[in-house]
Amino acid sequence: MAVIIDGKQISASVKDEVRKEVEQLNQQGICPCLAVVIVGDDPASRVYVNNKKKACAYTGMESREYALSGETSEEELLKLVEELNRDNSVNGILVQLPLPKQIDETKILHAISPAKDVDAFHPVNVGKIMVGDYDFLPCTPAGCMELIRSTGVSVEGKSCVVVGRSNIVGKPMAMLLLHANGTVTICHSKTRNLAEICRQADILIAAVGKAKMITGDMIKEGAVVIDVGMNRLPNGKLCGDVDFESAKEKAGFITPVPGGVGPMTIATLMKNTLTAAKVQHGLKELK
Ligand code: NDP
Repeated sequence: MAVIIDGKQISASVKDEVRKEVEQLNQQGICPCLAVVIVGDDPASRVYVNNKKKACAYTGMESREYALSGETSEEELLKLVEELNRDNSVNGILVQLPLPKQIDETKILHAISPAKDVDAFHPVNVGKIMVGDYDFLPCTPAGCMELIRSTGVSVEGKSCVVVGRSNIVGKPMAMLLLHANGTVTICHSKTRNLAEICRQADILIAAVGKAKMITGDMIKEGAVVIDVGMNRLPNGKLCGDVDFESAKEKAGFITPVPGGVGPMTIATLMKNTLTAAKVQHGLKELK
């Protein structure tokens, strides 16, 4: 029976550390500020944005919300991003995804100044993550690494399997595991023998977006299982990519959904906003 990794508790201690540092900055007259841009009225995006604003309030940072209509054009959004890039009182810029179909997400993410890119989605920051020398942490993967660290299991030399290869989760996750000296396999929709590959994993990360697709029989006895998936079931409940009930019988450690990776993603965002504020106030240099 697996030990359940408590993402809520671990994220609270990360946010407490951020809060202490924010208090110190306040004494120097600095209040880190995160601009959160939401376009349209997607209910899931609204929940994420509210949680990010709550985390800012908890850590003592300012959050400024820019809620735009779902009809907003790409030009209008680009104009707002450029204004926020120039605004010295804004340290971090987050554009909540997904964006409405008339807007090219890539264009918007590339327009955010790399120094204010607290999601670490700009190619400059992605490149730095690839090299292994970076200022802004990829939020979800760095949160997963923190959860793995909390188990006391070292990544070094371990077989790590990442299911999913998105730019936001799968690829940077694989990079962080590689930097930590794991032996990394990345799986995707064209992977053959997924179950067999998963069964080799000492550390298994599921980032697919398919409810309960990783079942107990795909898990190695004692493995660390990190479930990034956030899927809405027909009954309205949230559920991960891992079938928690069968997986917890095989895994050594496992994250729940909700209460696992989700809170860590937001805690890491707070860390990045703090970093951005320090950089813009000359207290830290960009790498
Ligand atoms: P994407 O849809 O961008 O990527 C999904 C990946 O899963 C793709 O690489 C795809 O492969 C792969 N995949 C799809 N079907 C299979 C399959 N049958 N077998 C193996 N691989 C498969 O999703 P994201 O990476 O953005 O998100 C993944 C999940 O994580 C979602 O549930 C999302 O909601 C959640 N999420 C949670 C966060 C959190 O904070 N907890 C943050 C971000 C995301 P291919 O490339 O071949 O298409």
